Amino acid sequence: MTAIGVMGGTFDPIHFGHLRAAEEVLQGFGLERVIFVPAGMPPHKPLSEVTSPEHRYMMAKLATADHPRFDVSPVEIQREGPSYTLDTLRELKQTICKDKKLYFITGFDAILEVHTWNGYKQLFDLADFIAVTRPGYSVEAFLTLEKFLGPECFSKVHPFPVTLLAIASREIRRRVREGESIRYLVPEPVRLYIEKHGLYSATAGDMG
Ligand code: NAP
Repeated sequence: MTAIGVMGGTFDPIHFGHLRAAEEVLQGFGLERVIFVPAGMPPHKPLSEVTSPEHRYMMAKLATADHPRFDVSPVEIQREGPSYTLDTLRELKQTICKDKKLYFITGFDAILEVHTWNGYKQLFDLADFIAVTRPGYSVEAFLTLEKFLGPECFSKVHPFPVTLLAIASREIRRRVREGESIRYLVPEPVRLYIEKHGLYSATAGDMG
C-alpha cells in the first residue's frame, strides 16, 4: 500500500522550515506525495490572531507550485467551524486518499498535545503521526506522551529529526511588522505575496 503524508499546520506564513521538513519526510518515509493542509480555523488559537485562511492557502500553493510531489488541499478552509484533524483525515480517507496509508505530519510541539485533540483515539485508526523536530529534541517530553496515549497509539507516533532550520512563522511576522527583511526565509513568491497584500505589517489592522 502506498503512503501519503498530510502536512498540517497554520502556515502563517509557510516557510522554508516547513518545506524542508516535508521534503525530508517524503524521502525518509518513502511517501508517494505530501499534501499540505492549511488549518481553516485552528481549534486552539483565537481567530483574531490568525491571517485569513484564503491568504494562508494561497501562500502554501505558491510555495509548493514547483514541487511535483507536493499538493495543497483546501479541505479545512472550505469546512465551517474549527478545523479538527479528525474530520480532515476522515474526509481525505474517503476522497483522495482511499486505500492509502496516511501519515499526519506536523511540528513536534504540536504533537506533544495530541492527546488533547478532538477524538484523539480515533485519529490513530486513521493515521500514524510524524512529529518533525530538530536534532536534540526532548526525548523526555516525548516519552511522557506514552502515559497519555497508551502503548498502542504511542507506537504510531514517530519523532523525525530534520535539518536544523531555525525559522518560525512568528519570527517572520515580527520581522515584517518591524520592517525587517524576510528574504531567504520564505520562497520568493510567498515574500512577494506578503508584500503585495500588506500582510503582517504594522498598519495591517485586519489580517484578512
Ligand atoms: P502550532 O501550535 O502553531 O505550532 C507548534 C510548533 O510546531 C511551532 O513551532 C510551529 O512552527 C511548528 N509547526 C506547525 N506545523 C508544522 C509543520 N507542518 N511542520 C513543521 N513544523 C510545524 O501548531 P498548529 O500549526 O496550530 O497546528 C499543527 C497542526 O495540528 C494543524 O494541522 C492543526 O490543525 C492540528 N491541530 C489539531 C487539533 C485538533 O484536531 N483538535 C488541535 C491542535 C492542532 P511554525 O509556527 O513556524 O509553523
